[in-house]
Amino acid sequence: ITDKIAALPPDANYFSLEFFPPKTQQGFSNLHARLSRMAQALRPLFVNITWGAGGSTSAKSLALAELTQRSLQLTTCLHLTCTNMSRKLVDEALEQAKVLGVRNILALRGDPPRSEEYRDPTNPLAEEDDSNKDFTWAVDLVRYIKKQYGDYFCVGVAGYPEGHSDQSHPEHQSVDHDLPYLVEKTKAGADFIMTQLFYDVEAYQKYERRLREHDSGAFKTIPIIPGLMPVQSYQILRRTTKLSHASLPPAVLKRLETVKGDDEAVKRVGVDILSEIVEDMKGVENPGPRGFHFYTLNLEKVVTQILERSSLIPPVTPAVVAYKGEHVSEQA
Ligand code: FAD
Repeated sequence: ITDKIAALPPDANYFSLEFFPPKTQQGFSNLHARLSRMAQALRPLFVNITWGAGGSTSAKSLALAELTQRSLQLTTCLHLTCTNMSRKLVDEALEQAKVLGVRNILALRGDPPRSEEYRDPTNPLAEEDDSNKDFTWAVDLVRYIKKQYGDYFCVGVAGYPEGHSDQSHPEHQSVDHDLPYLVEKTKAGADFIMTQLFYDVEAYQKYERRLREHDSGAFKTIPIIPGLMPVQSYQILRRTTKLSHASLPPAVLKRLETVKGDDEAVKRVGVDILSEIVEDMKGVENPGPRGFHFYTLNLEKVVTQILERSSLIPPVTPAVVAYKGEHVSEQA
């Protein structure tokens, strides 16, 4: 990913798309068809495949990564969490990713470690599984990947423009609390930062500025990729922003509340809002190309409209036409 970013002109824009593995075979087939269309029509710089906390989707995430990396030849970033699952599973996932030709891992902690449970000697899992001794924080996974694989994997980590929250902390963790640990992750070898979703551009810009100007110097040039979630419905928006502690600026909320009874209108206004966010952010100074990461929720239509409206879709290059064959050549 960082090689691809570095190869772009410094004033270029790029984007990535995130997908999660469907639960059923039918869902997988549907997503396969959708991904093929999106790969051809949208040409993302890379795609992300999520990982169920504790390894709950390991086989399905790897199957989806195989589809995107191998079959569709999309540069793929596999998410990997490290808590509440065995080190064996981490090793298998990394080895499998390597076999598939995946060169990018988003190194995450996942859910807070269930340390009490594991340390309970009466718990049969305690003997089988030493995961907690190896991995407590995402930084442990970054170090582990770098130690085991050197620079084979380009490693990304998560950043939280409006602070972090999870079940382990009833109190929301502020950016101030989180920053030293983000420095640690970067010093451990993280190659890029991908952020939690947000709708408050000012809050995001403040965060990015803080990182760029941080005394440690850890964030001077590292790619920081802002996370954006297209609006699919008013309910989903309210739920996801609550869960991720993303604030909804009053002006944004008002525009959506006005149409909240009409799903199509919500999507339309959402496309306007997201396109405006992208336009605003394009104008902000950045040490390299400006990227945008879209949490697609596996949906195609709304993200396509945002990408078209924001002119983020790269032109078809002769190499792409040659690779995709006759069918695309005709369209191009
Ligand atoms: P960490 O960097 O370990 O941080 C977790 C918390 O602990 C933070 O509050 C931090 O400040 C604090 N902390 C860190 N180190 C220390 C330390 N040494 N001492 C004390 N406190 C410390 N989850 C999934 O399950 N699957 C996914 O695919 C997935 N994808 C994601 C993609 C993105 C872009 C983002 C932003 C999040 C994603 N998540 C995913 C959610 C993520 O797993 C959770 O937010 C998790 O609670 C924290 O993960 P982290 O990697 O940020 O953890």
